[in-house]
Amino acid sequence: MCVLIRFAPPDVPPTFDADRRVIKIPQGTAPAHTVTLVRAILSELAVIQPELGAVCWCGAEVDLTPRIPNQRRSEQVVTHGA
Ligand SMILES: [Zn+2]
Repeated sequence: MCVLIRFAPPDVPPTFDADRRVIKIPQGTAPAHTVTLVRAILSELAVIQPELGAVCWCGAEVDLTPRIPNQRRSEQVVTHGA
């Protein structure tokens, strides 16, 4: 099972939940900083990190894209009464 990234409330420090294999990153963390935090946590778990990005202990690249539903707002359908 791969490592998972979850965005936690801003007052929660970056942590690794070993039971759930979840890395918690405070919400609002800049993407570049998120990568740094994830790399740091994985490095502490003895997972060698590449020059760019972050990789899981299985070697797969970690998907650090935040799931933000707002990105679908541009698909709003405008309906005018006929
Ligand atoms: Zn993995």
